[in-house]
Amino acid sequence: MFKSNFAVTYIDILAASQRLEGIAYHTPVLTSRQADEKALAHVFFKCENFQRSGAFKFRGAYNAISQLNKDQKQQGVIAYSAGNHAQAMALAGQLLTVPVTIVMPADAPVQKISATKGYGAEVIFYDRHTENREEISRKLANERGLTLIPPFDYPDVIAGQGTATKELIEEVGQLDYLFVPIGGGGLIAGAAIAAAHLSPGCIIIGVEPETGNDAQKSLQNGKIIKIPVPKTIADGAQTQCIGELTFPIIRTLVKDIVTVNDNQLREQMQFFAERMKIIVEPTGCLGAAAVSNRIIDVSNKRVGVILSGGNMDLKHLD
Ligand SMILES: *Cc1c(COP(=O)(O)O)cnc(C)c1O
Repeated sequence: MFKSNFAVTYIDILAASQRLEGIAYHTPVLTSRQADEKALAHVFFKCENFQRSGAFKFRGAYNAISQLNKDQKQQGVIAYSAGNHAQAMALAGQLLTVPVTIVMPADAPVQKISATKGYGAEVIFYDRHTENREEISRKLANERGLTLIPPFDYPDVIAGQGTATKELIEEVGQLDYLFVPIGGGGLIAGAAIAAAHLSPGCIIIGVEPETGNDAQKSLQNGKIIKIPVPKTIADGAQTQCIGELTFPIIRTLVKDIVTVNDNQLREQMQFFAERMKIIVEPTGCLGAAAVSNRIIDVSNKRVGVILSGGNMDLKHLD
């Protein structure tokens, strides 16, 4: 059941949860009679939209930075992201007094740029039509002696993300199913390892936007498939392919990957805002949309759903 040849083991998740104790929030688990009625199941929402910096990414970022040696911490870290990894890295760096540089597209949303700067990070812009962010980041990392922390394909990041599922299962007990959004696969890889240890038999289902189903294709083909940048409102899942480290974990521990479309995501966001009074960003709604549209039959089962983040432009709710 438990493969020790993965980049990450349950021991790493346990160590991450000790490092995050008192620093990351133990986010609440919410239930809703109306959500249960839609799903015909008992649904437990792990609310990482309430996590520091607004998404689970804080867990991985903090765990990764805290594990660097003294020299690396002094020199600083670098990440490329237009999204939640940027804010998470900036906040984690601020808390650990490690300088953070973020490489962002010049046309990134103003709120994201100001949130990242607000946590004290230096933001370097690039033109995403003519420049390659990975090249720019590597060049800067070399020139300035910075450590590059990628958003998902990095063992300490995966271990940190796994702590959300550890908390969920410790709070609500054994689950029959767990639904998790997939971008590059860091969140679901950590979730699957935590669940394999704490709730063996729990069926892990990944959820992607319909237009961005690269992980589904990769699972079906038995190898990593790369797609063009997908058009979807789920901006946290616009990755072109899953990772070299996350794929073997997903392939072994994830039962299936399903998709939902942007309309289903919009309906889900509205449900959360109107009925449960919570703001969940489009990518954060992937798992919940799969459950409430009964893409997989989970009748009468105990179903965990990770609401992965809550950072968004409120115009999405119009
Ligand atoms: C990054 C992100 C995801 C996807 O996580 P991966 O580890 O890349 O699979 C899902 N939801 C939100 C809100 C995110 O920020």
